[in-house]
Amino acid sequence: MTGLAELARTAKLLVATDFDGVLAPIVSVPAAARALPASVEALRALGSLPDTEIAVVSGRSLEVLRRLLSPPDEWHLVGSHGAETTDNTMDMEAVRPAAVKLAATLEHLVGARPGVAIEPKPIGAAVHVRNAAPDIASAVLEEVRSGPATEPGIFVTEGKCVIELAVVEVSKGIAVNQLRDALSATAVLYAGDDVTDERAFRALRDGDLGVKVGPGETAASLRVEDPEAMAAFFEELLALRSAGR
Ligand SMILES: [Mg+2]
Repeated sequence: MTGLAELARTAKLLVATDFDGVLAPIVSVPAAARALPASVEALRALGSLPDTEIAVVSGRSLEVLRRLLSPPDEWHLVGSHGAETTDNTMDMEAVRPAAVKLAATLEHLVGARPGVAIEPKPIGAAVHVRNAAPDIASAVLEEVRSGPATEPGIFVTEGKCVIELAVVEVSKGIAVNQLRDALSATAVLYAGDDVTDERAFRALRDGDLGVKVGPGETAASLRVEDPEAMAAFFEELLALRSAGR
């Protein structure tokens, strides 16, 4: 496979992978998702090789990811799309004062309106309007959009009946590059299946390899059909890297 043999020979390899849809086949009940044993075994063996690090990068919270995966202690975990890491690649102590201030600003601005809830988060705060009357909900969202959301250094994510403001930008792409730098990796393999993984594929550099699992447009250079094929890919990488050492 183009690029894989070269990747397997790199001095310090970081193997980073999404969980759902890559290690674990997609199931209808999210709590029932489990990684394929073949993938876990190949990654465990890869991680025990010298100069080879394993990371699992997920949108799930770290707590849930740990419960579903039971990963070896030496694996690096990134949860909540990069807002939580086991490596402290983000300095949470430095971020906290700005996040607390942002939550207080939102509370002061719109927190007293009926049905509006401000949810403080580690890197910012969310304004929930699901329980507000429609006219109040739209007025509150507009006030947040035209006010605090326009401040420099604020990153906005809008969802259904919620607007979330953060004081640092997080994405799987940023998380993977923070981890690459923290570990001094000389090349990265990233495997993912979803739109949020495209941020990671686009953040890859020369000599890295992106593997997209399943159909759909992608910035990754390689594609495999499903998690079973991904397991075979990890096994091939293990064989190549073991042979080269
Ligand atoms: Mg996924």
